[in-house]
Amino acid sequence: MSAAVNHAHGAGRANRWWAPHAWLDGRWQDDVLLVSDSGGRWATVQAGVPCPLDAQRLAGPVLPGLVNAHSHAFQRAFAGLSERREHAGDDFWGWRDRMYRVAGAVTPDDVQAIAAHLYRELLAGGYTQVCEFHYLQHQPDGTPYADPLAMGHALKAAAEAVGIGLTLLPVLYERAGFTQPALREDQRRFHLDADGVWAAHRTLAAQSHATFNAGVAVHSLRAAAPASVHRLAQLARGMDGPVHIHVAEQTAEVEDCLTATGRRPIEWLAAEGLLDPRWQLVHATHTVPAEIEAVARAGSAAVICPSTEANLGDGLADLPGWLDAGVGLAIGSDSHVTRSWTEELRWMEYGQRLLHRQRNMAAAPHQGQPATAARLWQLALDTGGRAAGQAVWGLRVGARADLLVIDTADAALVGVPGEHRLDALVFSSPGRPWRDVMVAGRWVGEADTAGRFADVMQRLWSSPSGGQDRVR
Ligand code: ZN
Repeated sequence: MSAAVNHAHGAGRANRWWAPHAWLDGRWQDDVLLVSDSGGRWATVQAGVPCPLDAQRLAGPVLPGLVNAHSHAFQRAFAGLSERREHAGDDFWGWRDRMYRVAGAVTPDDVQAIAAHLYRELLAGGYTQVCEFHYLQHQPDGTPYADPLAMGHALKAAAEAVGIGLTLLPVLYERAGFTQPALREDQRRFHLDADGVWAAHRTLAAQSHATFNAGVAVHSLRAAAPASVHRLAQLARGMDGPVHIHVAEQTAEVEDCLTATGRRPIEWLAAEGLLDPRWQLVHATHTVPAEIEAVARAGSAAVICPSTEANLGDGLADLPGWLDAGVGLAIGSDSHVTRSWTEELRWMEYGQRLLHRQRNMAAAPHQGQPATAARLWQLALDTGGRAAGQAVWGLRVGARADLLVIDTADAALVGVPGEHRLDALVFSSPGRPWRDVMVAGRWVGEADTAGRFADVMQRLWSSPSGGQDRVR
């Protein structure tokens, strides 16, 4: 990113830009005038306009900013540090226990430093908004901080400092499993019941501005009792923010849910009448066709996290099934082993190619959509906006004035014909070829986050055993 100015809260003066090419209404269009209003939203988006004298000419083709619909920022401090097998078997649950050592060790200041560094990387990776699935709430012994939202406020401060948009989702989290009445010792920092989630939501929603809003979340059906899920749904009945839930990520969770309730997790949510268009089903890896049909009927969406699901060995979502049913699919970087949407979309498709031994699995030539990258990108764009509680998203009047300027001189894009630009970005671009990133009508600048992040990493991981004892 080369633009210089960085502002904390996003909303800025009215401004006029002109792009030689921009992604409007699902395709590239030429000679596009973009005008933002004083609230940081698009007031004019018009193709086929010669560059006006008073407009700033953008240096390359323009994409809208993408929403990263699933993040646990603190897990960035663990990315790349769990790639060694310490026991005969190594699966999601072993990874989770090691992840808890980080969760147990960090302070609000640490979380702010980690999140600021991560959010800076996400902007560089082409995301302009992030949904924080936020369950790390309390002091290590489980006591609330003097400000009970200290951790949430640390995330908000980090987002404001680097200029990314943030949707904060306080999480309902109250038990260790379907048959367990309470949390484990190492989960004490996470406890929030339905009324606590709703109180946190109301406090955070009252602080909303152009680049900050709030929703709610349920950790998972294993971590929340049925009555609590219903209680939160009732409290949030009139809420216009999103409702997120981890669901069907692991086969063990599906089996435990079947044992406890007689239904699979998504089947249970649908049968209880909980799903509506605000609901975002994170992972939704293990499904049967009837569950996908139920999600489609309810107008809910799924948030796929391909790099994390691969890293944790979760399995592959039924991408053809979701696409055929017309369900919205957003993407999230979850544990942040990667911080670039091009890599998430690439792996969303590659997993299916490997599984089915075919190519261009996500393309739909019979629907006039032969381009795999374009179809996945447009889905992630539209659904991501919904996942972040935005009524309008993308290069559209009323949407927040976010955009990415592509550097066509990037080594990976040199010589690529315009109509294949998105294909090359997803399938042939190891780098992050954004010249500039705009959020809410302001260019996002370079924030120096590495120093504080390095300090936190040093403290977490500097012991002779590689940090495992230190943070235990
Ligand atoms: Zn998650």
